[in-house]
Amino acid sequence: MVDKARKIAKEEHHFEFFGPYGPALLVIVLPAVCYALILGCNKNSCLQLWPMLKLSSFDVSIKWYSWDALLIYLAWFFGLAFLHVVLPGQRTEGVLLPNGKRLAYKLNAFRLFVLVYGAAFYFGFFTEYLNLGWLYDQFAPLLTASIIFSSSLSVYLYVSSFQKGLLLSSHGNTGYPVYDFWMGRELNPRLLGGRFDLKEFCELYPGLIGWALLNLGMAHKQLANHGSISNSMVLVNAFQLYYIIDALWCERAILTTMDITTDGFGFMLAFGDLAWVPFTFTSAARYLVDHPQHLSVLGLVLVLAVKALGYYIFRGANSQKDMFRSNPNDPRVAHLRTLKTERGTSLIVSGWWGTARHINYFGDWIMGVAWCMPAGLAGLSAVVPYFYCIYFAALLIHRERRDEHACRQKYGKDWDKYCALVRYRIVPYVY
Ligand code: NDP
Repeated sequence: MVDKARKIAKEEHHFEFFGPYGPALLVIVLPAVCYALILGCNKNSCLQLWPMLKLSSFDVSIKWYSWDALLIYLAWFFGLAFLHVVLPGQRTEGVLLPNGKRLAYKLNAFRLFVLVYGAAFYFGFFTEYLNLGWLYDQFAPLLTASIIFSSSLSVYLYVSSFQKGLLLSSHGNTGYPVYDFWMGRELNPRLLGGRFDLKEFCELYPGLIGWALLNLGMAHKQLANHGSISNSMVLVNAFQLYYIIDALWCERAILTTMDITTDGFGFMLAFGDLAWVPFTFTSAARYLVDHPQHLSVLGLVLVLAVKALGYYIFRGANSQKDMFRSNPNDPRVAHLRTLKTERGTSLIVSGWWGTARHINYFGDWIMGVAWCMPAGLAGLSAVVPYFYCIYFAALLIHRERRDEHACRQKYGKDWDKYCALVRYRIVPYVY
């Protein structure tokens, strides 16, 4: 009976992440990568690609677990959740769900960020009351705490998703337990009588604000260790802070993303939001604590130029599509050549969107390179500071394939025509 159900599921579902059993590997490999980044680059040593990859680069004397870190982590998560509930926020509704309903959301991520980051900045840098460098000292135990917490949360989400009457995600309801545990069965799990949306909260609040605080902690530690904060540390903090503030300021925009509207809430998002983002995206800042780099004027100009180029492509392409989708007669986009589709909408085939089918991803990736460059310019052979742009390339390639699959389903033969006109996926003339 179960076998028959799985056979049907296999035929009906498009399994991502290496098939129905692939996530079994991912739930082990991804936390292992987080640990490997600390093992491979810390205050004692940092893995180098050349002259050769040395096993002796791995320092195994790191403390991985502490009760302090676990308690602070729990206080952090529940403290933020408490503030989210009690502080005022903008009320809005999400997209129309498959059950014909819309969920109400309370948005106050930016407000919480200002409060928490502002307090940390003030008490950390202008008083003796807060030792932000503790975040560096306890980085590995904090990572362990976040992995324990996000894994426990995923188990809770999986078990509770079997209650009757819940709206399930079609992606995470295949009958393959490991796959469903990874993808998430329930679409929008909620607590407090439906007032607290767990997925939206985890997507933006503890992970993104935590990422900003960890970076700040790295800057503080560099100051404590070396007596000053290097310009490369300032750049890494500033670039990433801008990205985080943008996401929190535009909190409403997350309600229309695939994560909220389509994917369930399972290990993929819980671990990704709470452990992966804050503890791997901070690799460059963490590296700089122990290997401070002072960029020359030329280095600074180079990093800023790469960032500006990435932003120019990213913003140009995204804005062009947004304008076109909102009003195709807008004079700024009315001149673009388009392909009319049977679905009723048109696809742009000139301008930014004529160069590659996801030219916006290319711009985003270039910006990611600029995030890593301040840490990596002086030590090009070190791998860890470049982790973000290596990982981000893989993520965008995978995401492009996901979107390609969705578009082929949406547009059918028209998508093939479009692909013939715009041949490159992400990088013009290369890929
Ligand atoms: P896109 O913004 O590229 O949107 C894809 C959709 O755009 C398609 O499904 C299609 O939808 C429409 N579209 C595709 N081609 C055309 C065309 N030629 N003309 C008009 N419409 C077209 O993808 P995402 O939503 O994945 O990404 C949004 C941004 O977020 C990107 O800049 C990306 O880099 C960034 N991002 C960042 C991540 C991070 O971790 N930092 C992760 C993922 C994304 P339809 O036709 O139905 O309108």
